[in-house]
Amino acid sequence: MSELTAKELFDKLSYKKKNVFEASSPEQIKKIYDYSVGYMKYLDDAKTEREAADTTVAMLEANGYTEYKFGDKLSPRDKRYFNQKGKSIFAFRVGSKNIEEDGIKILAAHIDAPRLDLKQVPLYEDSNMGFFKTHYYGGVKKYQWTAIPLALHGVIVKADGSTVKVVIGEDDSDPVFYINDLLPHLGARQSQEPLGTAISGETLNILVGGLPYADEEVSEKVKMTVLSLIYEKYGVVEEDFLSAELSVVPAFKARDIGFDRALIGAYGHDDRVCSYPAVTALLDTESESTVLVVLADKEEIGSVGLTGMQSDVLVDLIAKICEQLGADDIIVRSNSVCLSADVTAAYDPNFADVYEKRNSALVSCGTCMSKYTGARGKSGTSDASAELVGYVRRVFEENGVIWQTAELGKVDAGGGGTVAQYIAKHNIETVDIGVPVISMHAPYEVVSKADVYSTYTAFCAFIK
Ligand code: MN
Ligand code: MN
Repeated sequence: MSELTAKELFDKLSYKKKNVFEASSPEQIKKIYDYSVGYMKYLDDAKTEREAADTTVAMLEANGYTEYKFGDKLSPRDKRYFNQKGKSIFAFRVGSKNIEEDGIKILAAHIDAPRLDLKQVPLYEDSNMGFFKTHYYGGVKKYQWTAIPLALHGVIVKADGSTVKVVIGEDDSDPVFYINDLLPHLGARQSQEPLGTAISGETLNILVGGLPYADEEVSEKVKMTVLSLIYEKYGVVEEDFLSAELSVVPAFKARDIGFDRALIGAYGHDDRVCSYPAVTALLDTESESTVLVVLADKEEIGSVGLTGMQSDVLVDLIAKICEQLGADDIIVRSNSVCLSADVTAAYDPNFADVYEKRNSALVSCGTCMSKYTGARGKSGTSDASAELVGYVRRVFEENGVIWQTAELGKVDAGGGGTVAQYIAKHNIETVDIGVPVISMHAPYEVVSKADVYSTYTAFCAFIK
């Protein structure tokens, strides 16, 4: 070490994050920008978990993956996907290596995002306007959802059992929907209220109509117009809303942000910005290992239910794969490794007081590994081992992946959880990794193209 200058020695000994753009050649930067084009298309096609599942299935089938049902035969090199109720996808490639020794390489992201769901009896009219009642889904800042264009997505199951798909507000010729807010002229008291209570859940009513039905006999004329238009288009009556899942999401399309187009603005980066790289990494790599990409639902409300990661379906699927390969699933799980692929909060200089900068994710410094998540003293995290972080770090180093590490904000400022703990509990080594997001859970979130691409390269390195 003696021949080094003090500055060289300091550079050798100290840790510093790297900016992916700065570390990339013009050709690599072009790749980063090109990759974002496919991602932005995926964002526009996949605004709900059902649409993300359908879009993913189409990508998988175009690449030779076929649907797997429990009980199907499996052999090495099979490319299959398991569709859990149309809301959660498990895509897997059976490896040629001994699965008991090699385990399964798992990438687990989620495809649900915060939004407003329609109540089961949503429609009413008041003061010449028609509205839908909603119940918000996931952690939303309610005031952000007023006075922006909204789209309606979902399914309606009719009395005869047939299902109607609904997407209104995405085509430029479609109408959009809207939540009223108070004018500032009358907002003196509202503006004194805390942000969290200024707009209440029961005021998130969707404006859906205003034309009275031309008939003297009908008492609720705007409601009648709306019902008649829905009936005309979908053959649906009001009672059919009882068996429907309809969600209201921002009508915005994904767009480049900034003069240099370095960033992407979109609804639902959390967590499509990890699910898209996970699926494309699966499709773009070859490997001897068995690889499983999990796209889960219900993460935003606690990973509950049939399609959330707390469901037994993950262990059931692993057991069935092992059964077909003549392997013991307990041994396989104990030798498996999972990257829990979810977003983290990007350091935002506009809100510096809630971050601890040394341990925050910086925009454009690459995909971000979080050894632990949780809140109030790491509560709710699976806290990956130093050995696992060391293993993933070596994989990234060998493959030239630029990455960073972070935790979500200051120790006592708050926190968050992911699906990691629900996978780790099955004796599968799991660590969190994903893209840093600005304005997470807002109707329009922002990420850096460099971090999206870095996440893709990280996933390719991990599964190959
Ligand atoms: Mn997430
Ligand atoms: Mn989230």
